[in-house]
Amino acid sequence: MPSGFYRKTKKWRKKLSKMHTKDLTGKRFGRLIVLKQRGYDSRRNALWLCACDCGARKLIASNSLIWSKTESCGCYRKELASRTHLGKIDNRLSSSIKPTSTDIAWAAGIYEGEGTCGRHNDSTQTSVAQKDNWILYKLKSFFGGSVIYYKKYKQHRWRLSGARSRGFLMTIYTFLSPRRKTQILFAFGKKI
Ligand SMILES: [Zn+2]
Repeated sequence: MPSGFYRKTKKWRKKLSKMHTKDLTGKRFGRLIVLKQRGYDSRRNALWLCACDCGARKLIASNSLIWSKTESCGCYRKELASRTHLGKIDNRLSSSIKPTSTDIAWAAGIYEGEGTCGRHNDSTQTSVAQKDNWILYKLKSFFGGSVIYYKKYKQHRWRLSGARSRGFLMTIYTFLSPRRKTQILFAFGKKI
C-alpha cells in the first residue's frame, strides 16, 4: 500500500472519529439548529434533535449535518419541487388559440401593470382590469376565462379562477417582478 494512501486513510479515520464525538449543540446547518444529542443510528453516528426554521423537529445523524447532506427538515426540497412548476407553460390552460412565447411575454406585461391575483373561497383568482376590452378579449382567447363589464367602475375585467387561474400565473411567472411573484405565491396558498 503506498504510504500516501495510508496517511490519507489515517487522517480520514481521525476525522470520522472526531465527527462522532463532536458536540453540535447550538450549531446552525442551513435551516436547522441543533438542540441536543439523542441516541445513535445503526452505524453509530450520533443523532441530533434539530429544530427547522419552518417549525418542524427532526432527528438527523451527525455525518448528514457535517457533510451538509441535510440542511432542512425536508421543507426546502419540497419548496424547490413546487417552484420548478412555476414558469412552465401549464397544460391546464385551455384556450382557442395556443399562445406563443411572445404572447405569454405580452400577457405578462399586461398582468404586471394591470393585473391582480388573490385567494377567494380557497381558489386562486386572477383578474386584469382595462378600459379597452380588446386587450381583455385577446387574453381570453389565449387563456380562457371571462370578460365582464363593471358599470360601477366603468371598466372591463378579464377573470380567471381555479386551475385555469393557477395555470395562467404559472405560465407568466418568470416574466414578473419580485413583488408580483410574491403575490402569486400568496394567492396559490399551499396548493400548486
Ligand atoms: Zn423545515
